[in-house]
Amino acid sequence: MTQVGTASQPLRVAIIGSGPAAFYAAEHLLKQPDLVVEIDMFDRLPTPFGLVRYGVAPDHPKIKTVTKAFDGIAANPRFRFFGNVEFGRHLSLPDFQQHYHQILFATGAQTDRKMGIPGEDLQGSHPATEFVAWYNGHPDYRHHAFDLSVERAAVVGVGNVAIDVARILVRTPDELVKTDIAAHALEALRQSKIKEVFLLGRRGPVQAAFTNPEVKEVGEMADADVVVRPDEVQLDDLSRAALEAAQDRTLQKKVEILQGYALRRAEGKSKKLHIRFLVSPVELIGDAQARLTRIRMFRNFMPPTETGTNNPKPTAQYEELEVGLVFRSVGYRGVSLPGVPFHDRWGVILNDKGRVLNGDAKQPLTGQYTSGWIKRGPSGVIGTNKPDSVETANCMLEDLAKGAHWQPAQPEAAAVEALVRQRQPAYVTYADWQRLDALELANGQANGRPRLKITSVDEMLAAMGKAVPAH
Ligand code: NAP
Repeated sequence: MTQVGTASQPLRVAIIGSGPAAFYAAEHLLKQPDLVVEIDMFDRLPTPFGLVRYGVAPDHPKIKTVTKAFDGIAANPRFRFFGNVEFGRHLSLPDFQQHYHQILFATGAQTDRKMGIPGEDLQGSHPATEFVAWYNGHPDYRHHAFDLSVERAAVVGVGNVAIDVARILVRTPDELVKTDIAAHALEALRQSKIKEVFLLGRRGPVQAAFTNPEVKEVGEMADADVVVRPDEVQLDDLSRAALEAAQDRTLQKKVEILQGYALRRAEGKSKKLHIRFLVSPVELIGDAQARLTRIRMFRNFMPPTETGTNNPKPTAQYEELEVGLVFRSVGYRGVSLPGVPFHDRWGVILNDKGRVLNGDAKQPLTGQYTSGWIKRGPSGVIGTNKPDSVETANCMLEDLAKGAHWQPAQPEAAAVEALVRQRQPAYVTYADWQRLDALELANGQANGRPRLKITSVDEMLAAMGKAVPAH
């Protein structure tokens, strides 16, 4: 029998998802000198790049330039993209087993964590993930509505997603028009009456999850002052010790920036972004129509414990903040895939270094792998996915060398394409996507914008010259 991974029998790999983790895994496999591998990447949307297109803030265009590197990977003749094809809907796990030696799940984290407090379902309370998807033109969220006629909003959590949301809420239309924010969001934000946004951290500045460039950036916005309370950026003993023990200056710098904000006098800009610490929302309160009117929160303190951990504890003090909008931004969460073992509490695919484990015996399942947020949880920046995917891809290579892979009945590249065509005639290739990409850029240019995103799947298909399926 010929060895899998050679010219006469290429290794056939299916990658589910097309975000950074998916591309970095493809890159690592494709660059192996002694391996002939063919990669098919599937995405349920007609567009590739996952959170680079639908998660990265529109005012962070530099971060998005990583897609140039992904284009380079996709240009490899042994790479194909099948967009608008959904795992579990158009093709099932047994279908993939028929056609591939290995499958890699890199589907990211598509939903959010809840705070678990009363009132979370009131009108005006939203997951930050939905707002992000909306302003980035994700087809599933284009019709979402957020009541921007209120004057005060809060974002719970002090991570980079929370600060992205807060920033977008207080940016001016002139700042936003220079970005690739979805046209519907730009229009809604133009009419926005939001004047004050409160970012709410349950611990102190040393524990804040956002990163320094993002903290610095909010101090430089065109028409929004950043406001920090001096008493909330004073450090408790454990935090001070953590800061002194920090290996590099990054953490100290973050605290310095925040303490600097506390000393700043407001410049009289028309909006305010308040960064609050040591407060925990305990209830969202609504009016008779179940519309959010305020948040009740406890003031916290950070007691030293035997283990020295920095867990917040409520004081006897509480306060109420009048707000008409709340975005919870306390972390993304992975969604399970049909037939793939999932750890419900952690929101990840059960795995060991990227090898998918069976639910009961915790043994690796032949041929199945995972990388990115669905493997390790929603942490790190785009680049973090590179070593993560390399780790997984190395497991794939090790298992291949041992002959531990699926034995597909129809490994030919044409066979799976025929199946896809039959199950989802409206599938999209990378060349199709590149046509859409060029069109969005041209439409942007014609309107003085960097890109005008098309936000409906049918319109995307029409723009690519594909037949739009009847609904
Ligand atoms: P994150 O960095 O994990 O931040 C989550 C925040 O939610 C933390 O401040 C956390 O506080 C808080 N939180 C969790 N449970 C809470 C609760 N019950 N009540 C109040 N606060 C709670 O997650 P993220 O902001 O969703 O970002 C996900 C990842 O994407 C991160 O690694 C982030 O850096 C990355 N990202 C990067 C960029 C960028 O590079 N510009 C942009 C967006 C996202 P505790 O620490 O107290 O738990």
